Amino acid sequence: MAKHQFQTEIGQLLHLMTHSLYSNREIFLRELISNANDALDKFNYLRLTDERFKEEEWNPKITVKLDAKDNSLSVIDNGIGMNEEDLINNLGTIAKSGTKAFLEQLTGDAKKDNNLIGQFGVGFYSVFMVAERVDVITKKAGEETAYKFSSDGTGEFEINPVIKESHGTVVYVKLKEDAKEFLDHWRVREIVRKYSNHIPYPIFLNYETEENVGEGDKVEMKTVQKSEQVNEAKALWTLPKSELKDEDYVEFYSTMWHDSEEPLLWLHNKAEGTLEYTTLFYIPRTAPADIFRADFQPGVKLYVKRVFITDDEKELLPLYLRFVRGIIDSEDLPLNVSREMLQENRILANIRQASVKKILSAIQKLDEEKFARFIEQYNRLIKEGIYTDHLNKETLLQIVRYKSSKVEGLTSLDEYMQRAGEREGETEKTFYYIVGDDEHVLRNSPLLEAYRKADIEVLIMDDREVDEIVAPAIGEYKGWKFVDVSTVEAPKAEEDKEKLEKLNEEFTPLAEKLKTILGDAVKEVRITTRLSESPSCVVPDSFDPMAAMRPILRSMGQELPDLPLILEINPEHEMIRKLAETEDEKILEESAWVLFDSAKLAEGLDPSDKVAFAKRVADLLSRTL
Ligand code: ADP
Repeated sequence: MAKHQFQTEIGQLLHLMTHSLYSNREIFLRELISNANDALDKFNYLRLTDERFKEEEWNPKITVKLDAKDNSLSVIDNGIGMNEEDLINNLGTIAKSGTKAFLEQLTGDAKKDNNLIGQFGVGFYSVFMVAERVDVITKKAGEETAYKFSSDGTGEFEINPVIKESHGTVVYVKLKEDAKEFLDHWRVREIVRKYSNHIPYPIFLNYETEENVGEGDKVEMKTVQKSEQVNEAKALWTLPKSELKDEDYVEFYSTMWHDSEEPLLWLHNKAEGTLEYTTLFYIPRTAPADIFRADFQPGVKLYVKRVFITDDEKELLPLYLRFVRGIIDSEDLPLNVSREMLQENRILANIRQASVKKILSAIQKLDEEKFARFIEQYNRLIKEGIYTDHLNKETLLQIVRYKSSKVEGLTSLDEYMQRAGEREGETEKTFYYIVGDDEHVLRNSPLLEAYRKADIEVLIMDDREVDEIVAPAIGEYKGWKFVDVSTVEAPKAEEDKEKLEKLNEEFTPLAEKLKTILGDAVKEVRITTRLSESPSCVVPDSFDPMAAMRPILRSMGQELPDLPLILEINPEHEMIRKLAETEDEKILEESAWVLFDSAKLAEGLDPSDKVAFAKRVADLLSRTL
């Protein structure tokens, strides 16, 4: 007898399942059947690739057995089965990032957490919502020993060798007192149909019932064993679209991808030409919790002629579409295609290309409400696509949305172009943008003052991690350039240029003095006309060789070296005018630092020396009072 401890996180999860989650308990059956389906898929694949199993006569099926006397429900499959190691790894340890992500999102509020369970599935463990005890009796295909895993959903589980004839798994669920509804064959039939009608293997329901048997005088009530198939057992994606209802698509989605929310969209296509294949794709309403983790679980399953090949290939679709769930079933790939070869496979590359086009075009056709939801969940991944998918860049740029200095909410690039075009005298075709972490700071950045004055719209990109890399790489969209406002002089009219020349002459002595005072803290002090309300602003030196390195360092989680800053002063501001006239060295010195530090603050940066900054401001103020 071997006792084991559950991993801590599983312990937590189990506690939650047994104590706080009561609504929608029926999904445990969906999860167990889904696991059985996967196990059958895996054995099916083994038969094609492993000589040892080729000859075996095999009728894949799933059986749900109800035993009212024993108060138990079992889900039985003749799939791949598990050995001792599998049991420990799969059922005792957290192998999936999904579970971790799930636990991170738990709120402690039973109602909300219940919804989460629906969303995540959390697979096998959901059985403890209804189980007093669970035994998993299982034998792995090709191995000698069978094992029994037992747990009552507390901290420990046991694994012992047992006798079992054939490969596959029995999940025996001893039902809790308050879970007897799952002994009712009507109820169970309904649940199976609801969630698993279209999984490709037959599901049988075995139960006992009292029936009148015999004829005439000899009729008597007898207990009879019943066994009936309750699902259609046809792979949903192989059926013609005309035969399928919305509910069918949703049911299939929820069983295969453990999501209780209706998907945002689905698209089902059959390609018949040089290549023959069927695809069925879904976009989840809520982004899968692991999409920003390196160990995310891919959502697309590959089949060849209806035989499951893999669900562990991350690049069946481009990486930025890793939120898409679905099925690719090819008629042209060889059944024994090795999983290692998939990445270079030409047929798959073709299917992938066509699929991306279909998915993107379906996204563009979403209605307003759904499109807004899509952007809320996936805008960041679309930006990732702009950076990586050159073939579809134009389409992705049509889909992406940004905040903007001109509108509330979000805008498309096309809307920006339209607004810019409507402005009188607009000739330069430019998307101006500013990148940073904080929307408020960006909107109020002194860098935008001149644009506001000139009535020029600026895109507010506040997802710095992504925007900082993606925006400079966009280049152009429909002939319009992307320009970072911190890298260019602000827009100005012809007369402004003359004015600047004059001002330059007049204020260069002040700029030089300030530079001497600030020393190495600034790269340069220069005169600007981009400001109207503020006396000064700072801009990073975008020509510094380190500027280009920053996004890369950031993405590697490295410390970022500070870029040299350029201090720009506004000669039309009263403070600057007066400074240019003053002879008082002390005031000049204090003001230099205050100008620089307050400009840094406005960009969300820290002053060079916070204590000194506060003191200088106080000093300057007390002088004026
Ligand atoms: P998921 O199915 O999402 O991976 P589960 O918690 O439901 O998560 O199951 C964990 C793992 O246990 C599965 O990935 C599978 O490897 C294994 N497993 C569960 N049920 C079965 C079964 N009936 N036959 C074979 N393996 C199973």
